[in-house]
Amino acid sequence: MISSSIASATSYNNRMFIFEVVGLRQSPATDNFNYAIRQSGRIWFQVPYQRMNQEMQRIQRLGGRIVSMRPLSEPAPVPPPVAKTENKVRQTSSTPAKATKTKESVSRSKPMTQTKGKTDIPVNLYRPTAPFVGRCMSNEPLVQSGGIGIVQHLKFDLRGGNLHYLEGQSIGIIPPGADANGKPHKLRLYSIASTRHGDDLDDQTVSLCVRELEYEHPETKEKVYGVCSSYLCHLEPGAEVKITGPVGKEMLLPDDPDAKIIMMATGTGIAPFRAYLWRMFKPGEKALNPDYEFKGLAWLIFGIPTSPNILYQEELEALQAEFPDHFRLTYAISREQKNTEGGRMYIQHRVAEHADELWAMLQEPKTHAYMCGLRGMEDGIDAALSVAAAKQGAEWAPYQKNLKKQGRWHVETY
Ligand code: FAD
Repeated sequence: MISSSIASATSYNNRMFIFEVVGLRQSPATDNFNYAIRQSGRIWFQVPYQRMNQEMQRIQRLGGRIVSMRPLSEPAPVPPPVAKTENKVRQTSSTPAKATKTKESVSRSKPMTQTKGKTDIPVNLYRPTAPFVGRCMSNEPLVQSGGIGIVQHLKFDLRGGNLHYLEGQSIGIIPPGADANGKPHKLRLYSIASTRHGDDLDDQTVSLCVRELEYEHPETKEKVYGVCSSYLCHLEPGAEVKITGPVGKEMLLPDDPDAKIIMMATGTGIAPFRAYLWRMFKPGEKALNPDYEFKGLAWLIFGIPTSPNILYQEELEALQAEFPDHFRLTYAISREQKNTEGGRMYIQHRVAEHADELWAMLQEPKTHAYMCGLRGMEDGIDAALSVAAAKQGAEWAPYQKNLKKQGRWHVETY
């Protein structure tokens, strides 16, 4: 698979892309585009792959904005068809604090385009002043024997409310009790690890992947456990839990079933990617999502300290074995694998190994890159991609900025 990707990366050098640009005005500076600029300032023109970055910079300098890019070989996009009623409507017996739209109204109105700026993304259905009270259905360990720390997969019952969500969103959990000042604890955010249909595929649950925060007090040297994470990791099935949200628009998955999805995770950063992968590949999900038959490529690069810390390992590897043409799985196991310099293998080293291929993928308008997990993982990944970009005479920072503008570079670190 690697060699075929490299081959396809090489063939990119000969490909042409169509840029759709707005905001340019006819002027001596834009005359050498050799295309008539419409009165609206909108222009389409062909750019060879190898000149893409220079052209992007030139367009930016001239005040233009690229609104779409596609290979010349691909047809121009057509508006998406109206979505079928993919989301089942939950029976509600209590009213949420505030709902932007119910699932019913979402599925009956516009298709769920899941892009920023659209209104049909559920947010803050439940706020801290009136949280939804769910119930813990299960709390299972994810770290195998010999691994480091405690990480749990928790499933909550949402029946009796209207809490619904999309893959890539987060919920808030309000731990019981009070802080050092006697005030009720504030909520902590957790990325949702299940698809919108939940692990039981009945739209009635939400799941999380939570690591118990444990550290040494800087002065007393005592072991300290995080308030909310230790509350959750030791929560008994049947216990009530206060839930807020959902929140977050940064990590939403594109609707396009042909998209290429690069996922870079460290530790519990796997949570949203589990949701994506289940949506893409799980048989029960496929039946519920007739409009989303994933035929693209999902590539998970997953950083963990030891093999027993590979969260959801069995399921990930089963998916990889079943869908080798659509799901690629790469581990960076820091305490067991060595990087090229003989040091620990962190995620940025794996990204560096595959940087040329990742860079080539990022030239494709269908590619979205996601990063989730430990704050601090960004710098090494940026450095690795900068090297790949520089080999092609491009600068990573402005390129990445452009990817962000296009909604194709997504980061959620904590
Ligand atoms: P707290 O009791 O709040 O303790 C945290 C405090 O400990 C901090 O104030 C910090 O100053 C201190 N501290 C932490 N480490 C050290 C150290 N080494 N030395 C000294 N002081 C230290 N977590 C997950 O497990 N899974 C997820 O999916 C997840 N998703 C998230 C999504 C988002 C969008 C965000 C913002 C956060 C996410 N988190 C996730 C993190 C989560 O919100 C909490 O921050 C985490 O669980 C710790 O909360 P706590 O109440 O246990 O710790």
